[in-house]
Amino acid sequence: THFGFQSVAEDEKENKVYEVFENVASKYDMMNDAMSGGVHRIWKDIFLERFAPSPGTKLLDVAGGTGDIAFRFLKYVDAPAHISTQQDFGIPKDAASRVLKKICRQRHHHLMMKVQRSSQNHRLDTPVLPDDDSSHVIVCDINQAMLDVGRQRAKQLGFTSGISWLQANAENLPLPDNLFDAYTIAFGIRNCTHVQKVLDEAYRLLKPGGRFLCLEFSEVKNPLLRSIYDSYSFQVIPVMGQLIAGDWKSYQYLVESIRQFPNQEDFAAMIRAAGFRMVSYENLTFGVTAIHSGFKI
Ligand code: SAM
Repeated sequence: THFGFQSVAEDEKENKVYEVFENVASKYDMMNDAMSGGVHRIWKDIFLERFAPSPGTKLLDVAGGTGDIAFRFLKYVDAPAHISTQQDFGIPKDAASRVLKKICRQRHHHLMMKVQRSSQNHRLDTPVLPDDDSSHVIVCDINQAMLDVGRQRAKQLGFTSGISWLQANAENLPLPDNLFDAYTIAFGIRNCTHVQKVLDEAYRLLKPGGRFLCLEFSEVKNPLLRSIYDSYSFQVIPVMGQLIAGDWKSYQYLVESIRQFPNQEDFAAMIRAAGFRMVSYENLTFGVTAIHSGFKI
């Protein structure tokens, strides 16, 4: 096809993705606003409303990049004022959280941990989860440049506690089993080479009763809307990438990776295959993105 990275072998994908985010890190947040007309902020807000974390939640935000989900999480647990008017996933939230709490009560896990060097040859990081009932998020990303931008933003936004940063690959995380109450991944999983491995890791790292939540681009089923969306993304996004970030190819890759990612149903089946139960999804903006949810029970 006319998209340069389609011929990239599976083994090379990780390096290519790394390069893409290395190139776009400093412009990433601005480009997100430009490409989505700011709508990504609304999707992320809805994602947090669906998640509805309670104070004390220990969260792992994978492919967390520059911290958008982590900052929303910290804001939410601090002041959970966001009451959603939209329907939930078909799981009554109260029922789900009752199940979750019941299972969690039955199990106690140590929360202290040491992080070993990740599978890649990057920096040694040692985030530690607090051994108390405070809320905490570990932001994990394979790309140190994205995390560095995130750290800077955290400082600027005044998030001085409740957050730590870990450079590691989502497919092989240097963390012990059964550690987290929740695992989030937003606009990240399609960039991973082995999606099923990422899901298996998510399952391993969650406590019993823990919740997996994914926000990702998905499939627009309506043919008319789909053709409008296709024209926009194939023709406009790489041009914007060139004009704003001086980088056509990285944005070509991003568009292409969206088209190659499994649709809503296929992705839900992969989440079930990892062992999650009560798997459901919700389309946002006609399926341009979808929120998938599952529980480790
Ligand atoms: N979650 C953030 C957000 O919603 O703004 C960032 C999303 S950004 C589109 C995708 C991120 O996934 C990048 O920061 C990239 O470095 C990260 N990533 C790609 N492959 C990864 C992997 N195998 N493990 C961890 N992070 C990965």
